[in-house]
Amino acid sequence: EQAAVPATTNSRKNKPTLLVSRLYQPANLRDLGLQGEMTCKSQRLMQQAGLIYQSNPGCYYYLPATVRSMEKLVRVIDQEMQGIGGQKLDMPSLCSADLWKTSERWDLMGKELFRLKDRHGADYCLGPTHEEAVTTLVAHQATLSYRQLPLLLYQITRKFRDEPKPKFGLLRGREFYMKDMYSFDVSEEAAYETYESVCQAYTRLFARLRLRCVQVQADTGNIGGKLSHEFQLPADIGEDRILVCGNCSFSANVETLSQETSDCPNCKTGKLEESKGVEVGHTFYLGKKYSNIFNATFSSAQNKPCIVEMGCYGLGVTRILAAAIEVLSTEEGIRWPGLLAPYQACVVPPKKGSKMDGAAVLAEELVHTLGETLPRLRGEVVFDDRTQMTIGKRLKDASRLGYPYVIVVGQGALEETPRFEVICQLTGETMFLSKDGLLDLL
Ligand code: ATP
Ligand code: MG
Ligand code: MG
Ligand code: MG
Repeated sequence: EQAAVPATTNSRKNKPTLLVSRLYQPANLRDLGLQGEMTCKSQRLMQQAGLIYQSNPGCYYYLPATVRSMEKLVRVIDQEMQGIGGQKLDMPSLCSADLWKTSERWDLMGKELFRLKDRHGADYCLGPTHEEAVTTLVAHQATLSYRQLPLLLYQITRKFRDEPKPKFGLLRGREFYMKDMYSFDVSEEAAYETYESVCQAYTRLFARLRLRCVQVQADTGNIGGKLSHEFQLPADIGEDRILVCGNCSFSANVETLSQETSDCPNCKTGKLEESKGVEVGHTFYLGKKYSNIFNATFSSAQNKPCIVEMGCYGLGVTRILAAAIEVLSTEEGIRWPGLLAPYQACVVPPKKGSKMDGAAVLAEELVHTLGETLPRLRGEVVFDDRTQMTIGKRLKDASRLGYPYVIVVGQGALEETPRFEVICQLTGETMFLSKDGLLDLL
């Protein structure tokens, strides 16, 4: 039995289906006066490439290419979180004020909390983070056994914060995606072990994305607790100031030091170097702060109810995307971490009427071959069918969106030993490769 062919799919055999002319990447959306000023490179590049569109301050349409990239990032985060035993759940964004009043954060959060009332006049907020919600959930479990711990629960959902100054595109939104994980342990010692395993998972995650990330001591803010680290991407656009010792492993957010000094408080001999950072992740050891309030207990080996030890761990999902673009890109075009590029490659056939019909056919075949030979490229290679445009114009667009590989199929492909021109976006290098050479490269 044949499955129905989706309307946008080109049903002719072996014809490319991902056509640039059909991709929804509106780079020329009318500015309805809401776009404001371009406050940073990633915002400008993402808007120019048709990746995002601001609907109101700090709120964005994530356009299709962004969603592809986000889904890839979510997959990597899932792998790392589940690799250390994390279990994914999804909690309501509409949070009852009662919980927030119990923890006293209803008042502490001040104007940052988006508050609303339901039809009965009951107070709610839109979740900016979920310590209250998750602790209540675990507290409501009648019998949580010590055998079930450590328990690591996480979600990747929209968070809402009425930031005083939403700016820098996705770097500081009022509605954004965060991965937030919460850990439950039998003892302080076990909680520290879990804390450490999450920090290691974060370090692995940024290494896989090939982003340089510094783990620094951090303030615990209104989340509370004793031990805390931030994961900072060094970048001039960053709003945090971080200090790294040139001699020992000490590193800290400036906020944590009572006096600022250029001498390392740890080794005493090294000098602290200051730079700016974008906070992409934050880990907290919470101890019993929330579990005491909500009476979250487990039954011990002696069958006694004990208050559970907690930690919480955030990652700014949309912020990581924008921060990666911020640190890797040139002024002209986006450079993605390979794992996050919305599409892996773009094949550019010759201009119509350039008497290279043979090359045009070869280009279409190439898209098919790539998918057949390299299964991970299936659905990842787009075909720039806008053949009324010159190659140069199409290459400029490709460079703006930052496909990791752009493959030009022109005169060289028609020679006795066919050659393809391959532009590697990350290095800016151009290579002339045979079909096998190309397959090896990809
Ligand atoms: P910031 O200092 O930048 O305001 P925060 O310390 O308030 O961030 P946390 O409460 O630690 O943020 O939240 C966990 C993570 O969520 C942060 O490390 C960051 O990556 C991300 N995040 C926080 N606020 C925003 C925002 N307004 N837009 C996008 N991502 C955010
Ligand atoms: Mg904040
Ligand atoms: Mg912060
Ligand atoms: Mg923080």
